Amino acid sequence: MQTRYVVLIDIDGTLITGPETGQTAGSVAIHRATEDLTGRWPQVPLTHFAGNRDPAIARLLLEDVGEKNPSPERVGQLIDRYLEHLRSEASRRPYRVLGDPAGAVASLHARGGLVGLGTGNIREGGAIKLESAGLAQLFEGMPGGFARDGETRAQLLRAGARELDPSGELRVIIIGDTVHDISAALAIGALAVGVPYRHHTREILLEAGAHLVVEQLDGQLGETIDSLLSAPISG
Ligand SMILES: [Mg+2]
Repeated sequence: MQTRYVVLIDIDGTLITGPETGQTAGSVAIHRATEDLTGRWPQVPLTHFAGNRDPAIARLLLEDVGEKNPSPERVGQLIDRYLEHLRSEASRRPYRVLGDPAGAVASLHARGGLVGLGTGNIREGGAIKLESAGLAQLFEGMPGGFARDGETRAQLLRAGARELDPSGELRVIIIGDTVHDISAALAIGALAVGVPYRHHTREILLEAGAHLVVEQLDGQLGETIDSLLSAPISG
């Protein structure tokens, strides 16, 4: 099968979500890590986390507990500690799969799609989360764009697409659950597919410029992407 396009899929709120009740392992881990480093428990609303890059979240939490302009080294320390906590928290409160990612990825592969990840997680953290949800094999080698691949979500997505398609000639499709996924996709000239999750509703994703919104990822995705690619694109 000839490769036809690149698809980068977001992790949190798109492929996986936290336990039925209580906070996600990622949220608990970054809060504990901040407390370890600073002695204080940050109070940043969780809505600031969705669609944000891990280093930006780390910086936000350090500033929240009183550290002004934390250095990249300090942010790195917090991320290292976060990963330690994430390993134990993700085994205690594993992530759950949303929809049918295996079916979705298979349907893309069958139609010539190259599939990777496009996420604000740092690569190691994303791997821990996916593994706890049983999706490690589906994204073996963790191809795609991650927090450290760019200063903005658009940059990391562009880098992720280039990793899968070094020629840069294939169409790129970004799939995610927040307006940040959509706006970053538009910024790099990609097609944007929204998957509503919590307060990021179908209407909000469409308003942000999503070319298409699907209710969940499943075995229909390949066909849906094909019709999107053959439709005239406006804007
Ligand atoms: Mg997300």
